[in-house]
Amino acid sequence: MQKIVIIKYGELSTKKDNLNFFLQTLKQNIQELLKDLEVTVTNDFGRMFVESKEENFLKITERLQKVFGIHEIIVGYRDSSLDLNDICNQVLSLISDKDFSTFKVETKRSNKKFPLTSVEVSKKVGSFILKNKAGLKVDVKNPELLVNLEIRKTEVLYYGERIKGLGGYPVGTLGKGLLMLSGGIDSPVAGFMAIKRGIKLEAIYFESPPHTSIQAKNKVKMLAEKLVDYNGALKLHVINFTKIQEEILKNIPHEYLITIMRRMMYRISAIIASRRNCHILVNGESIGQVASQTLTSMKCINEVVKIPVIRPLACFDKLEIIALAKKIDTYETSILPYEDCCTIFVPDHPVINPSIQKAQEYEKLIPYEELIYEAIKTEEVINIDKLSSIEKYRDIL
Ligand code: ATP
Ligand code: MG
Repeated sequence: MQKIVIIKYGELSTKKDNLNFFLQTLKQNIQELLKDLEVTVTNDFGRMFVESKEENFLKITERLQKVFGIHEIIVGYRDSSLDLNDICNQVLSLISDKDFSTFKVETKRSNKKFPLTSVEVSKKVGSFILKNKAGLKVDVKNPELLVNLEIRKTEVLYYGERIKGLGGYPVGTLGKGLLMLSGGIDSPVAGFMAIKRGIKLEAIYFESPPHTSIQAKNKVKMLAEKLVDYNGALKLHVINFTKIQEEILKNIPHEYLITIMRRMMYRISAIIASRRNCHILVNGESIGQVASQTLTSMKCINEVVKIPVIRPLACFDKLEIIALAKKIDTYETSILPYEDCCTIFVPDHPVINPSIQKAQEYEKLIPYEELIYEAIKTEEVINIDKLSSIEKYRDIL
């Protein structure tokens, strides 16, 4: 019998037309994630399998819990004998060291040529266990031990406990998006949700040195690194936004500072997205959260770009967002106290219902196309990859 990790993909099975593409992507993503562990990943009739050395199993199951497109992760066994006596004996040996008093056998039979039905197999195996292990009872409703059998064409799978996977689509199957990543709580969560839908992300961060510190930038890198767990390696585009912000601050009525600043961010993001073949922008805006996120503000800001802007958190409360941030382990990093470029330039009374016409007029007070062009020239691209991070080396150093 071979010990093996079995992967079930749930929602994927509804993607009939391009199932192969989805599966290939899922397989590649898993191979990439486990590349340092010497594994073989295969897929066959509705299941994916990871073979590796015994000592890697825990690491593998832990990492797979961060892979989108997986419905369940199971450590089980497979054996090539389809003989009923062998099946009974295998089950008996697998449960021999387990402590339980009630059990149930559940069988799935994708091999329709197998002479017994699923129910018949379960009954046979169940009574074999009762006969050979004293003091046990069958409980079909609430068993302490569930024995799962899958009778396939050339093998039988045996397993018990199942770990819930993240669901969603394999990263990359829906194309690429550019995440506007600030150091705050919202944008990493928005990124996580976009990745869940199969979007492979790159990220853009606007910094304003010396008004923003190197710690603020490091914080964004750390957040990007958290997303790498789910996204795979991620390119972070850092744009120096200082000149634009200073020009805005000097020349534009203060109630429109944020509106114009965000219009600039959107324009630059759209240009970087187009260069990097990203189909959408993703950001952490949430309706009503601040003055720049009222519906009229969003309309006035969004007006400057054609690329679709996806706001996964649009209808979430802050408390819901915080709960998610804790779940994906970005919260503690997000609340580190470093200022970002928006918080420094917040005016006392930002306009709540900006007019598009006014925004356009005010923008003429600065040479914004040139400023955008200059800002893009400052682009620094940082490759964020988990394997290069210090955390990876912590147990070695
Ligand atoms: P977050 O929304 O991430 O908690 P925040 O509240 O400071 O951070 P907002 O002012 O709410 O940010 O901005 C809304 C969204 O705009 C952010 O979620 C993020 O997607 C984007 N954004 C804001 N500042 C920046 C920045 N400096 N670089 C890149 N994107 C930014
Ligand atoms: Mg926010």
